Amino acid sequence: MYLYRRPIKQYGILFKMLAVYIGILVVAYFTTSTLLIYIKESVNISRDIVKVRFEVLSISQRLVDSLLAMEENQKKYEIVHSEEYKKNFLAALNEYKNAIWSILWFRYESFSVWEELHAEFRAAFPELAQGKALGGEPWIDQETLNKWMRIVVSARQDNERVLESGMRELFRISEVAVNRGVTGLTVSIGLGLLGILYLTYSLRRPLRELRRGIRAYTRDGRLEPIRVLTKDELGELAAAFNDMTSRLKEEERMRADFIDMVSHEIRTPLTSIRESVNLMRERVLGEVNERQKRFLDIASDELQRISAMLTSLLKVSSMASQIVDLAPVTFDPAKLVLETLEKAAPAAEAKGIRLTPRLGRDIVSVVGDRELLGQALYNLIGNAVKFSPPERTVLVGLEMADGGQKLLVSITDEGPGIPEEEQPHVFNKYYRGARTKRTTDGIGLGLSIAKTIVEAHGGNIWLSSLAGKGCTFYFTIPVDGTTA
Ligand code: ADP
Repeated sequence: MYLYRRPIKQYGILFKMLAVYIGILVVAYFTTSTLLIYIKESVNISRDIVKVRFEVLSISQRLVDSLLAMEENQKKYEIVHSEEYKKNFLAALNEYKNAIWSILWFRYESFSVWEELHAEFRAAFPELAQGKALGGEPWIDQETLNKWMRIVVSARQDNERVLESGMRELFRISEVAVNRGVTGLTVSIGLGLLGILYLTYSLRRPLRELRRGIRAYTRDGRLEPIRVLTKDELGELAAAFNDMTSRLKEEERMRADFIDMVSHEIRTPLTSIRESVNLMRERVLGEVNERQKRFLDIASDELQRISAMLTSLLKVSSMASQIVDLAPVTFDPAKLVLETLEKAAPAAEAKGIRLTPRLGRDIVSVVGDRELLGQALYNLIGNAVKFSPPERTVLVGLEMADGGQKLLVSITDEGPGIPEEEQPHVFNKYYRGARTKRTTDGIGLGLSIAKTIVEAHGGNIWLSSLAGKGCTFYFTIPVDGTTA
């Protein structure tokens, strides 16, 4: 059963993103509210300073000035008895009264001292305090004046002290607010960056693993399970990918088993038919006329073709697991090339195609499975012949590469070439080119078999082609058979 199992999802991607987002939001919220509290506090202090302390300061200055003016004019009047000084005295007294009334208007915490001053004034000048005109002489004694002055000066000093401490507090609050603001901002930015890093890291690893799995299949046709690295949606995706690969593997295996079984089942009756046809063709079972012989020849050729096809199918199913049993021997690759060309000669001759070997002079012996490598070479030469139009040339090159460590084989034809979009697929099992499959026989296994054989030897296979200008297939194998 390939039922897709849902892994226990611990922390989904959305959850992780939300956690980062909420984290930033919480820090930002606390920073903003702290700043607001500080701003409110400093507004209160500033209001007190601007609306109360500065006003009190200037009014108390008016009180001091009017008290001094009263004292001065009273003294001058005592000496000169000029009405002018009396008038000045009364003006100063009036100013003093107004200033006291203005100050009483601010009802703040150390307000009682001004009430005391007002009570003194009321006692000294009851008519004036009630807003009436002064009845008798306006003068007051020096002692009272001194007392009032002392009260005003000390209240003024108190006010200055409060003003100064308010300013200090304002400064302190602004400093703390700036610090908190900067800290909050730094923490928010840091949290944001960390969150982004964490999210990128936790998304990157599983995505890379998934890409590796998909690439292994699209590039090399390998179905490999990938690691399930996270317990989120990407973990689910990885688990689903693994389910899919095991399902595809199982289907591949079943298909190979099926092909294997069918091929074996067909092979036995096919051998009997072939033998019977051959016996008839060779006139062992009696005389056949020329017309009958021609048809028997066609039947024999077709049987030969079906037989070769079955051999390919069986080979592929035996290589389905990608594990090829190699029987390595040391052999001369040049000789193998010549032998394979000879094998392909009848098909080439039928189309008037020239098979030309280009063998390097420094070719050394190679360790590998001679029979399988011959098969790979034959598949490539066979394709070159099969797809080339008549009267062309097929070149088979053999040279040393990688400083003599590898053997490089190339098969070049002057056929239709392979369009670029088909090139990544031609080594896949059962793949046949869209254009060529209408015009040529085949089951799309030749290149896949060649690839499996070359790679089992630790080599590489590739092609280069320009559509319409023929193509060259290359493969390399290590000469010492280290991986064989
Ligand atoms: P088959 O030959 O049975 O179709 P192969 O696996 O040998 O299968 O080749 C796969 C496909 O690659 C072919 O169907 C063809 O489209 C393309 N191909 C292979 N060799 C050549 C070639 N020499 N020239 C042009 N196309 C080729």
